[in-house]
Amino acid sequence: MGYINIDVKRRLMGRFQYDNDLLQEINKLIINENIRSGEIRLIGAVKKARFGFFDQATREYKFIEKNEHMEILSAIGNISIKDGKPFPHVHIALADKNGNVHGGHLMEGTKIFAAEFVVVDYGENKLERIDDEFTGLQLWNL
Ligand code: ZN
Repeated sequence: MGYINIDVKRRLMGRFQYDNDLLQEINKLIINENIRSGEIRLIGAVKKARFGFFDQATREYKFIEKNEHMEILSAIGNISIKDGKPFPHVHIALADKNGNVHGGHLMEGTKIFAAEFVVVDYGENKLERIDDEFTGLQLWNL
């Protein structure tokens, strides 16, 4: 176990516009606002979605695409530094028209219908992603 104690600097609340790419919009927001450490929570709906499943055996992402309208039940993520830049790590849970849930690691290719977000900016950053030999992922330097 490793963790840090960190204070909240500010909160941003807003929405992303129709037809934009959800992950690109999150990236734009955190770059524009220079959020180097924080969290994001988001609900809304998508016109289509693309997300990933990390295969622990092959250490590669399997991409899943859903070309249908779905509700964003919950998208949550954290923001930290990767390769010297603010990086959002976001997971998304989506419900289709029958209420069945799909989801995974949010990837580019998810088109917004509506998206309402809350972003919490922790201000000062102490966490940075580095290569982790046991998982093949880039994890925090703790
Ligand atoms: Zn992930």
